[in-house]
Amino acid sequence: MSGEKIPVAGVIGYPISHSKSPALFRHWLERMELPGHYVHLHIAPEDFDASVRQLPKMGFVGVNVTLPHKHAALAIADHKTDRAVMIGAANTLIFRKDGLIHADNTDGYGFVTNLRANAPGWNPRSGPACVLGAGGAARAVIAALIDIGVERILLSNRTRGKADAMRSDFGSRVEVVNWVDAGEAVDDATTIINTTSLGMVGQPELRVPLDGLRPGDVVNDLVYAPLETRLLREGRAAGATVVDGLGMLLHQAVPGFERWFGKRPEVDEDTRLAVLG
Ligand code: NAP
Repeated sequence: MSGEKIPVAGVIGYPISHSKSPALFRHWLERMELPGHYVHLHIAPEDFDASVRQLPKMGFVGVNVTLPHKHAALAIADHKTDRAVMIGAANTLIFRKDGLIHADNTDGYGFVTNLRANAPGWNPRSGPACVLGAGGAARAVIAALIDIGVERILLSNRTRGKADAMRSDFGSRVEVVNWVDAGEAVDDATTIINTTSLGMVGQPELRVPLDGLRPGDVVNDLVYAPLETRLLREGRAAGATVVDGLGMLLHQAVPGFERWFGKRPEVDEDTRLAVLG
């Protein structure tokens, strides 16, 4: 390696100390015996642009980006993937050798790959999907569901206007359901996805009625702390196939790792354990 630069990447957020990405990347680097570093980058919104522009000069080959910077990450890029533009946010920035910044959003890829890996018989055309929540994560999930052929998406969010805005962005496959009627959307759907922060440590529980969950349904919670949320507990009790949110976090990191460090990493039980500590 003499004379060659050791690639450095990281994750930018504000706050960021909670992020599991450094543990994940270090696990893959060690497992594949690759040279490289991956660090937390605590950067305030007002410093985002100036800081990002300095990073390539310091040896960074790219960064993952999390809250509250995902819109700024898309805006700063010279090149953007179609899926990042469709979602309206970026979670992966690649610093190219020609000095340009390339933006991607791999959240939808992580979501679908996690679902396919942990609910192997899952068929996107088996029936409607119910998406609870209309924040940034929901945009990635809805874009991915449309991309893989889900024909009806029942979208329910506490703030109805945000769900309506998503319908106008994504079109008529999205049907908005009032938050008070979310239980009916759960009942009508065969795939149920929680994209709200409800159920996460320190947040209130998801209170949507879940008696419509059935055997054969696939239930996915994007929340991964705790791993087993009320939604997943009730889904399991109803005989549904349940998929936790940790796999999405792991899979969304794969494209960035491969690009920055040159090899495609595996997501397996060891990876989960490394991240869970
Ligand atoms: P966000 O943009 O802030 O959206 C938050 C969503 O939660 C909104 O739909 C919001 O509804 C809803 N919500 C929050 N508090 C609520 C309450 N008390 N009652 C009803 N609804 C409430 O956040 P995000 O980026 O989409 O992330 C959402 C969740 O997904 C977080 O838990 C995050 O950790 C998780 N996530 C996981 C992954 C993964 O890889 N597993 C990736 C991305 C995100 P309103 O619109 O009404 O405020």
